[in-house]
Amino acid sequence: MEFFGHVIDGKEVPSIDGKTMHDVDPYTREPWAAVALGSKSDADRAVASARTAFHEGPWPRMGYEKRQQILHRLADLMEANADELAMADTRDMGKPITQAHHDVARSTWNVRFFADHARFSSAEALPMDSGHHAYTSYGPAGVAVAISPWNFPLMLGTWKVAPALAWGNTVVLKPAEDTPVSATVWARLAIEAGMPPGVLNVVHGFGPDSVGSALTENPDVDRITFTGESTTGKIISAAASKHLIPVSLELGGKGANLVFDDADLDNAVHWAVQAIFRNAGQVCLAGSRLFVQRGVYDAFMERYVAAAQALRMGDPKEPATEFGPLASLKHFTKVSGYFDTLGADGGRLLTGGVGDGWFVAPSIIVDAPTDARVCREEIFGPVVVVQPFDTEDEVVHAANDTRYGLNAMVFTENLSRAHRVADKLKAGTVWVNCFFIRDLRAPFGGVGESGVGREGGTFSREFFTEPKAVVMQIDR
Ligand code: NAD
Repeated sequence: MEFFGHVIDGKEVPSIDGKTMHDVDPYTREPWAAVALGSKSDADRAVASARTAFHEGPWPRMGYEKRQQILHRLADLMEANADELAMADTRDMGKPITQAHHDVARSTWNVRFFADHARFSSAEALPMDSGHHAYTSYGPAGVAVAISPWNFPLMLGTWKVAPALAWGNTVVLKPAEDTPVSATVWARLAIEAGMPPGVLNVVHGFGPDSVGSALTENPDVDRITFTGESTTGKIISAAASKHLIPVSLELGGKGANLVFDDADLDNAVHWAVQAIFRNAGQVCLAGSRLFVQRGVYDAFMERYVAAAQALRMGDPKEPATEFGPLASLKHFTKVSGYFDTLGADGGRLLTGGVGDGWFVAPSIIVDAPTDARVCREEIFGPVVVVQPFDTEDEVVHAANDTRYGLNAMVFTENLSRAHRVADKLKAGTVWVNCFFIRDLRAPFGGVGESGVGREGGTFSREFFTEPKAVVMQIDR
């Protein structure tokens, strides 16, 4: 079994105490790699390395253009090593390989986009009346800790780390314990691309009472960017507040998908399938609550059920596979548990259910009362709850009746309604007649328990820099 270490101070290293963990492939349910299992000492060592690199190394001082060149070299290497990166995520979490390749392309774009964005951003010049002139400068914040989840291992790691690096920070990345490999492969490529030692550190291990908590409790950290569960976000926010460390939290979701009578049904069915069954529904942005207007309900459901049943389940390493197992035994157990309580809660399974191994088939639930667990909790699996509706007001109210607010989708050919409903939905992102399309300049984040803060474009700049006002006297 290949060994994947931490990457600290420009070198791949084992844990200080020599401990390792088995990395399990959820399709074979067998270990496929050995990974360094870090502890607080390894986390502290990674932060110290990032701190030294920030104070003494060239990265924060080399300027935007040189950083841009190194980041583009890294992106070139990611493209050249796309097969290895994609297979790492597929073996770590059972993501179908074609989707993993899509993630690698998006990860590469994360690196290129933020490298260019930092280089070409303009800053405010504020001419004043009083014979003074003010402007804003954006210096790096310092040491940024990035803690990422297991559902898009490489993509979310790069989404958090690339802007931090582009703006001149040094970074410690802690990937999820279930999906560590692509982060080590990526950090190896960063060394090959010429990134100076200590600029991108990767440390592996668990969250609570381990590497994760050590990173969030370390006073020598300047920023924490976290993606994961809302409950973990609250713990991290509390830990960071002890040292007043700014946090950006991208958390859970229970996305509403609204299909109106006047929608293009083929398009709505296509995206409604993608929205909950892509990546086996292990997507924060999943459209897990589907509302269909009464006039098209029967026609929509006939096509939707058929499309869900037609998804090709199987070995995620096979290019033809569209639907893989859940990412771990722990997660499979959690998602399966929702089927046990479904009857008592009043819901009815139209298709799907628990399959072999760690598979849960594409599952569609109807007739669930709005207070049922499946309607309120983030299942984070291929399980959608469908409810018919009559009026626009009624569906907007139902869509907003959640403690989450990450995203929503609206399918309608009525332009006025599209804008009106998008305006009323409580969500960080609203997609109209599409899903999952992103412009990296746009704000990304959530409302309520879906998060605090926004990242993307200038929003990432605000978070990863210390904006400074400089006021100069011009006339004496
Ligand atoms: P999780 O919160 O269990 O773990 C996420 C990361 O936090 C892991 O690296 C974990 O080791 C670490 N961690 C756990 N406890 C910690 C602690 N006490 N201190 C420090 N670190 C700790 O989440 P998960 O199960 O890996 O991911 C699934 C969740 O992530 C879902 O809720 C999903 O909606 C959310 N998510 C959100 C977004 C978004 O952009 N809003 C994107 C993807 C996933």
